[in-house]
Amino acid sequence: MTMTSVPTVRLSDGRLMPRLGLGTYPMDDATARTAVRGALGLGYRLIDTAASYGNEAGVGQAVADSPVPREEVFLVTKLRGARHGFEEALRGFEESRAALGVGYVDLYLIHWPLPCRRKYVDAWRALIELRERGLARSIGVSNFTPAMIERLVAETGVRPVVNQIEMHPSFTQEATHIWHADHGIVTMSYSPFGRGTGGTRIPEVVRIAEAHDRTPAQIVLRWHVQSGAVPIPKSSCEERMAENIDVFGFELSGEEMARIDAQDSGDRQQGDPDVHEEF
Ligand code: NDP
Repeated sequence: MTMTSVPTVRLSDGRLMPRLGLGTYPMDDATARTAVRGALGLGYRLIDTAASYGNEAGVGQAVADSPVPREEVFLVTKLRGARHGFEEALRGFEESRAALGVGYVDLYLIHWPLPCRRKYVDAWRALIELRERGLARSIGVSNFTPAMIERLVAETGVRPVVNQIEMHPSFTQEATHIWHADHGIVTMSYSPFGRGTGGTRIPEVVRIAEAHDRTPAQIVLRWHVQSGAVPIPKSSCEERMAENIDVFGFELSGEEMARIDAQDSGDRQQGDPDVHEEF
């Protein structure tokens, strides 16, 4: 299979991040080790994991196994809910770093805000400390609302560079995505296909795929990229991984983008940031 070179986006802290990555939930260690090694061979450079996925060791082994130098890999992991709070978050980070077997992480995210526990600002202070120590090169959040991000900024003066949120054609998150762009925050889109792979079966998406002689999955991922979001499709199958990364050689028209935008039905699949609990 051929190797694709993924373009990058510049984060507000000046660092470069690939414009598409590999999701690894719900892979176990063994699956992640094989999949991530394969993905790196195909040209993937951004790998998304989390403490709560239980596969950081497998991801780390794949990075160690791969001939791709560590500094060319953009490794993303996330703080689990049970480690919110300042000291707890420092400990949670060390657990992740040990499991991954790396000296630093490229992007460290607070996985969920868990507003009821009132500890996400303390956790954010720990992430700032980790960035200052050079252990987390960039820091961001996941599943945060604009109001929660405003609170982080008001209390610490530090803005996340990324907010990783659910986004797909039936849940376009247009207002949040525009707010991110206005505030220099990159939207990383998880569950990019939507409801399993439901977004790939939307008739409008299928019609656009036929017009471009591309697969519906490629059309959905291209829509993310052209919207300015960074999708992290998950696949453990090398053929689909190759299909998913091959979205930088064609372009959707403004009219096609609008037809996909119009599929939004507010169909959230994952947790609601205001109430979701995670440990
Ligand atoms: P995705 O939208 O990436 O869908 C994954 C599913 O699509 C899998 O069943 C996969 O099967 C299938 N698939 C992949 N490529 C294709 C293709 N080309 N054609 C047809 N089917 C395909 O959903 P996820 O929910 O997994 O989200 C992606 C990643 O986002 C996660 O893996 C995780 O890293 C992250 N995430 C983060 C969350 C957060 O709270 N921050 C929450 C949820 C996810 P197969 O493997 O067999 O190819």
